[in-house]
Amino acid sequence: MRIHNVMEDFVFDILNDTLKKMPNVCQCEHCKLDIAALILNDLKPRYVVSEQGYVYSKTDLLSRQFGTDLTTEVIKAVMVVSENPRHDKN
Ligand SMILES: [Zn+2]
Repeated sequence: MRIHNVMEDFVFDILNDTLKKMPNVCQCEHCKLDIAALILNDLKPRYVVSEQGYVYSKTDLLSRQFGTDLTTEVIKAVMVVSENPRHDKN
């Protein structure tokens, strides 16, 4: 059995979509993780316990409205990190 915070899946999913639409923003792993951490610290975790790892489906837990709210949070976090990346700017 393992325990898993499904919010991580949702955040990374929306983050990847959002970054695709924002090509000017740094897409490196370091920035992605910084952005995700920023968002996840503000979100209530949603843990699931499963035998073989949780296979996530967007429609499982979250309403469309929640997805929209999360997108707004993701864009805010992307702005914060891209303005202040924790590595040298190229
Ligand atoms: Zn970066």
